[in-house]
Amino acid sequence: MLNERMVGLGTQRSVIRELFEFGKQRATEIGAENVFDFSIGNPSVPAPDAVNETAMKLIREMDPVVLHGYTSAQGDAGVRQMIADSLNRRFGTAFHADNLYMTVGAAAALCCCLNGLCNPGDEVVVFAPYFPEYKVFIEGAGASMTLIPADIEAFQIDFDAFEKALNPNTKAVIINSPNNPSGAVYSEETIKKLASMLTAKSEEYGQPIYLITDEPYREIAFGGTVVPYVPKYYKNTLVCYSWSKSLSLPGERMGYIVVPDEMDDHEMVYAAIAGAGRSLGYVNAPGLFQRVCAMCADLTADTSVYETNKNILMKGLRDLGFHVVEPGGTFYMFPRTLEEDDVAFCERAKEYNLLVVPGAGFGCPGHARVSYCVQTEMVKRSLDAFEKLAKSYR
Ligand code: PLP
Repeated sequence: MLNERMVGLGTQRSVIRELFEFGKQRATEIGAENVFDFSIGNPSVPAPDAVNETAMKLIREMDPVVLHGYTSAQGDAGVRQMIADSLNRRFGTAFHADNLYMTVGAAAALCCCLNGLCNPGDEVVVFAPYFPEYKVFIEGAGASMTLIPADIEAFQIDFDAFEKALNPNTKAVIINSPNNPSGAVYSEETIKKLASMLTAKSEEYGQPIYLITDEPYREIAFGGTVVPYVPKYYKNTLVCYSWSKSLSLPGERMGYIVVPDEMDDHEMVYAAIAGAGRSLGYVNAPGLFQRVCAMCADLTADTSVYETNKNILMKGLRDLGFHVVEPGGTFYMFPRTLEEDDVAFCERAKEYNLLVVPGAGFGCPGHARVSYCVQTEMVKRSLDAFEKLAKSYR
């Protein structure tokens, strides 16, 4: 008898993957230029030249036995210090190498945190709309997910619903700002309110509620939008970061966790994360790209095209009558669908070769996710198809 849960996870393709495959099939039938594929969140801009140059320099100049050898399980000490230095320069923090744990992307960072923190019966709070893998990761850690319904006016936090959901079994809360799928950035006011509520509830329950902040889109913020650095507001914060989007390196699988010194039981939490990494078999994150990312930690890919695309698409959709909350960052927007049933809406969109993802899978029906990490020229041409779709509802 196999593990039924794993068989299920391995056989049920995600809605996003289904759409992506449909798009590839459709492209062979009608030509790729006629398919407006807004399904997947794969960065459309190249990594900065410095990434390849650094990788090649390391390959040419470093002792290959060291370069391709194991690093410490938590990541190379020099790498971790360089990343701490970069964070300290940018956010005025005082991190050092032992606050950092290198991971295989944000996905592994989240899994290490959740497995390190949670015991059976624990609850982890997530705000809709949310990245669907959270549920898989939380349940994989033996905990259960408590979903807070979305504040669909601004995609900030519904604090009344949040307060009611907290209880002594609440081990952690996950936030994701800038957000996939809404593009919303939590304001400083939201983060402050969240921090004060978590502080009060931790005191009331006599144990910390950890705040896990999932930040692969931190550097993709539009028009000077400020993304507050969460550890400055709440001491029991674990930062899960990744270079998948900011350096356009999703295939290299590189990220880290920050475990601040100020956190309650800092050393125990770090040990639990390291233990989770060990039990999950992650050992050390890939050595070459640990070094490349550390040496490029102050850089980002040229992500300006995402803001250009956001502006064109948001204006185009609003002119057609769509309700869209303006994204503060990422390369996603989350308009309301023109009928209540978002799955039916996305099926109808397919008739116009528009591939957008139903909001239901993100815990927020009545919306659809549009990933605009695509060519600007394609965004412009897609507006005709959106117009035909909108007209079909009049
Ligand atoms: N968290 C969010 C919100 C994401 O959108 C993604 C990837 O799309 C991840 C985590 C996983 O990122 P990584 O590629 O670094 O594992």
